[in-house]
Amino acid sequence: MNDQQHPVTSSADSLAALTPHLFRPLGAQGVYARTALYAQILERLECYITGLRDLGSEVLRFPPVMSRMQLERSGYLKSFPNLLGCVCALHGSESEIRTAAERHESGGDWTASLGPSDLVLTPAACYPVYPLVASQGPLASDGRLFDIEADCFRREPSTHLDRLQSFRMREFVRIGTPEEIVAFRERWMERAPRIAADLALPHAIDVANDPFFGRVGKVMAVSQRQQALKFELLIPYYPGATPTACMSFNYHRDHFGLVWDIRSADGAPAHTSCVAFGIDRLTVALFAVHGADPGRWPAETRRSLGL
Ligand code: AMP
Ligand code: ZN
Repeated sequence: MNDQQHPVTSSADSLAALTPHLFRPLGAQGVYARTALYAQILERLECYITGLRDLGSEVLRFPPVMSRMQLERSGYLKSFPNLLGCVCALHGSESEIRTAAERHESGGDWTASLGPSDLVLTPAACYPVYPLVASQGPLASDGRLFDIEADCFRREPSTHLDRLQSFRMREFVRIGTPEEIVAFRERWMERAPRIAADLALPHAIDVANDPFFGRVGKVMAVSQRQQALKFELLIPYYPGATPTACMSFNYHRDHFGLVWDIRSADGAPAHTSCVAFGIDRLTVALFAVHGADPGRWPAETRRSLGL
């Protein structure tokens, strides 16, 4: 601890004690309002990440919803149907909608009248970028590079500060030939330890797998691991804590190239990779490791964040 008011997190209890500094409850697990203190550090972190961005990146900011059809076609229902949130609405005539809404007033269940819309809640920032690129014709000879961001939703309610239902994800996405994609991901994995060092955060990098749904999902996870398609930057929030995955480095091979018919200049299906920054997990990590008062954070962290 550096002092009584501003403890550095040393246990699950002191992590919980951080919560009032960072979040306000909004009546649902893993859904929070962010305090000014939290928002200030999140913005500084975003600026730091912008400083890491490759020259020539196209910047796009996505809304928290996306086309349901696009997500279905991406294969999400095969991988994580349990995590998906679908936007539902009251459809029908004025009187049908009124009848449904009035059922609530009389203590009944208005939600029984809900029907799906053409939108889902974006579960990862990069899904909308592939159909967008596909709609723009064949790739130029050096492929495409994006800096994207979205507020994402995953249906995984939890009381833990590192497992939110609504969280922000920033990604650098590369679309191109297999050689370009492998080089992109290697370069970012080499940079990862420097990012952790810039922020003075303890870390490890390890091969990982996504939490694919169900029994078939177990097989998908083993295959993803064996092919080393996913790596993560892991940060323990306090000494001895199970480390939290704060960044991921993903190689999708030609999955999105085939689904959306994105072709490299040579006509072959494009390969894609994304480097994802869990903006909320990194922000919480900064507070958990360095304490609630940024004025007392290590010089290196303060310098990197421009504090
Ligand atoms: P993924 O697509 O699962 O690799 O997620 C990319 C990054 O988003 C992860 O490395 C985390 O930092 C962050 N993330 C994923 N799920 C959550 C969650 N439930 N709460 C907060 N951050 C998350
Ligand atoms: Zn991605």
